[in-house]
Amino acid sequence: MKPEKRDKILVVDDMPINLQLISSVLEREGNFSLVTVLDGKSAIRKAKTNYFDLILLDIMMPEMDGYEVCKILKSYPTTKDIPIIFLTALNEPKDIQKAFQYGAVDYISKPFSKEELTSRVHLHISLKRTREELENAKRAAEAAAEAKAIFLANMSHELRTPMNGIIGMVDILKRTELTEEQHEYLNIIESSGENLLTIINDILDLSKIEAGHMELESIPFSLNDELRRVLNIMQILADKKKLPVILRIGEKVPPYVKGDPVRLKQIIINLVNNAIKFTEKGSITVSVEKKSAENEKIQLLFKIMDTGIGISPEGQKKLFQSFSQVDKSTTRKYGGTGLGLMISKNLTQLMHGEIGVESVEGVGSTFWFVIFLEESDKENYLKQHQEKETSPVEKTKMQIKLKILLA
Ligand code: ADP
Repeated sequence: MKPEKRDKILVVDDMPINLQLISSVLEREGNFSLVTVLDGKSAIRKAKTNYFDLILLDIMMPEMDGYEVCKILKSYPTTKDIPIIFLTALNEPKDIQKAFQYGAVDYISKPFSKEELTSRVHLHISLKRTREELENAKRAAEAAAEAKAIFLANMSHELRTPMNGIIGMVDILKRTELTEEQHEYLNIIESSGENLLTIINDILDLSKIEAGHMELESIPFSLNDELRRVLNIMQILADKKKLPVILRIGEKVPPYVKGDPVRLKQIIINLVNNAIKFTEKGSITVSVEKKSAENEKIQLLFKIMDTGIGISPEGQKKLFQSFSQVDKSTTRKYGGTGLGLMISKNLTQLMHGEIGVESVEGVGSTFWFVIFLEESDKENYLKQHQEKETSPVEKTKMQIKLKILLA
């Protein structure tokens, strides 16, 4: 049989008789393994060179008192986590307070009862074990999350490249001579491919956000232009259901702002996409209002209103969580992964804002979000865009007639 591992305790007291008494109690009653020393300096030396589960420390000792020993032990990386219990004849409230201020976990007054001593020692050793287990579990979880983030970041390229190949080749194949039936099959491959690419992108985005690797850009852009551009594309989707997509921009909204237009449009696309998906008749309205301004930051409130199926109060509680859809029939009927709202919530939080919903079943839903952006102006906007358009590399490119070998 494997010998049972005994917990190791360092006992520090300048009186040999006390060391004897404590040792006899703990070794006999508690089955601990003890090391005893008579002064502070030896205690520090021993603690630095050996493993201990706990230290019992006297306060009043010549040369270096217990408080000083405790302070030094708490300042060393290898000894700072060893629980220290003061065992002392001092028992004024201020002494007790001082003991805790120096980092002790407990305090036992002399003369002590053997039951109290063993119980407290047992308690603090078991707390230390629990803390160590929690720290190990936390470290393992962090390492696993980090490994997952690295894996997904590496997979990102591996997943997207073949998908682009499939979608691109289908597009080329569609332009060749085909029967109607073959054309129809290619349309199915194309839309399945695009759906799969959206899911891949969503999963990769979410893992990037969760790993804290998502960084937002801060560039000047025209809110009006970006919103119109994205809603024009969404209108093509809405046309299939004869739904008008209306845009309302509040008078106080500045024409130029600074932030991340791509990620802002990603939130809007998610919400407008849902609005179109869950609406059969009526319209979709996208509005933006300026709520407040502080220093250079402005708070904008976006609303995406639909006249669709609406969401029950219980359903609303399930929103904005990963892979969450209001009910199981949603996937069957409308498809989707339940990631769009979670990603949108994370993106609004990265923009120091929040997201929410108001909805009445059978009447429609209004998804809203507020974000903070910086106000910008035309001059900065043009500067940014001209720089982009005519960077030295671009200029050179424009002057040279490009010759490309496509393999
Ligand atoms: P997905 O649409 O891919 O399922 P989302 O996170 O975008 O994922 O949405 C989660 C769920 O919230 C949807 O499946 C749907 O049940 C509900 N939902 C979202 N937007 C609307 C809306 N405008 N009207 C009704 N239900 C909605």
